Amino acid sequence: MQLQRRKSQELYKTAKTLMPGGVNSPARSWKGVGGDPLFMARGKGSHVWDVDGNEYIDYVDSWGPLILGHAHPEVVAAVKQAVDNGMSFGAPTEAENRLAALVVDAYPSMDMVRFVSSGTEAGMSALRLARAFTGRPKIVKFDGGYHGHADALLVAAGSGAATHGTPDSAGVTASFAQDTLVAQYNDLDSVERLFKANKNHIACVIVEPIAGNMGVVPPQPGFLEGLRKLTLDHDALLIFDEVITGFRVAYGGAQEIFGVKPDVTCLGKIIGGGMPVGAYGGRQDIMETVSPLGPMYQAGTLSGNPVAMAAGIKTLELLKRPGIYDQLESKAVKLTGGFQAAFQKAEVPLRINRVGSMMTLFFTQDEVTGWPSVTASDKEGYARFFHRMLEEGVYLAPAAFESMFVSTVHTDADIEATVKATGRALG
Ligand SMILES: *Cc1c(COP(=O)(O)O)cnc(C)c1O
Repeated sequence: MQLQRRKSQELYKTAKTLMPGGVNSPARSWKGVGGDPLFMARGKGSHVWDVDGNEYIDYVDSWGPLILGHAHPEVVAAVKQAVDNGMSFGAPTEAENRLAALVVDAYPSMDMVRFVSSGTEAGMSALRLARAFTGRPKIVKFDGGYHGHADALLVAAGSGAATHGTPDSAGVTASFAQDTLVAQYNDLDSVERLFKANKNHIACVIVEPIAGNMGVVPPQPGFLEGLRKLTLDHDALLIFDEVITGFRVAYGGAQEIFGVKPDVTCLGKIIGGGMPVGAYGGRQDIMETVSPLGPMYQAGTLSGNPVAMAAGIKTLELLKRPGIYDQLESKAVKLTGGFQAAFQKAEVPLRINRVGSMMTLFFTQDEVTGWPSVTASDKEGYARFFHRMLEEGVYLAPAAFESMFVSTVHTDADIEATVKATGRALG
């Protein structure tokens, strides 16, 4: 089958004259897999339709937020009701209390929370908070970790990684990079070395407790516990960026699964139920540093927007129902098993890293435990697979090192169809 893509191609041509690369976020371009991105027209449940009318089973789920699938009727109804009551006030609303209470209840490490409008803002503000609270300049992040596009976080490991990182984007100055130290995920020694070399200068360690932006890479036993101990020993804060994992791997996120309590947590994606919401929160004494209570300034015209809050509240209420995460787990197990069997039959090497309903298919036979092993897997193999799966009616992430997501509305039929498509795509 050759997909009809005329409308997508025409729209993309126009988009490229209007927006850089024709997109408003680079992950939407197909740079990593080649070809022109599809323009989407509609989503319902686990399926999406592009502008040419092709239908796909969707495992991108808007990159994570849509854990209940597209256009969930109860979420849509809540949003419509909120819209009818006025879309923004720039004054407090009860909806903010309600979403804040849901979040604080789910995350015992968070006494208080501040809503923002994106994960990027959450990460950026959490760093400022750590610096304000500790009075220290430097931060530690991990190679291959992503926390949004704030300057201080667009830094990669330099050759002299023991001292400081190097800008990972044009426009990020060396002085930003100087205060960002880069360690290796799942390598506690690399963190310890940084603490030794920068005594009393490190404000915080920011980490995705389950890496999701280099593909899914779970923490090895002892890694998160080790980070907790090192940060405590050195009076630095531990920040868990749970923008993907929050309400995804468990209602209480990765910190619930692994039982490690961070000082500050970043949330996003699912808490907006498809609308733009981010949040950061933590211990009371730390959060009291935030303006207007404390000296750390952070603000937002549309922060805590009532329509976005309504989508988030309904989404979390639905996720709270008993058995949801067990259902997600068994769907994901079924899908993983199907992938494994299909790859084995086709004799194509595969490693699946999975935690709950987030997973990545790495085209390699070796274990994938961190950035070096991620980048050693076969990107081109994934790109070919991506395009063949598309022809088979399955929409995967258009890049090798991303997570795919199972939602509560993926059906057995979806999963069986995906596994069959995989067999054909590899055949
Ligand atoms: C998506 C993501 C972000 C950034 O969130 P945006 O809403 O895209 O700004 C930050 N951290 C992690 C772990 C993410 O997955």
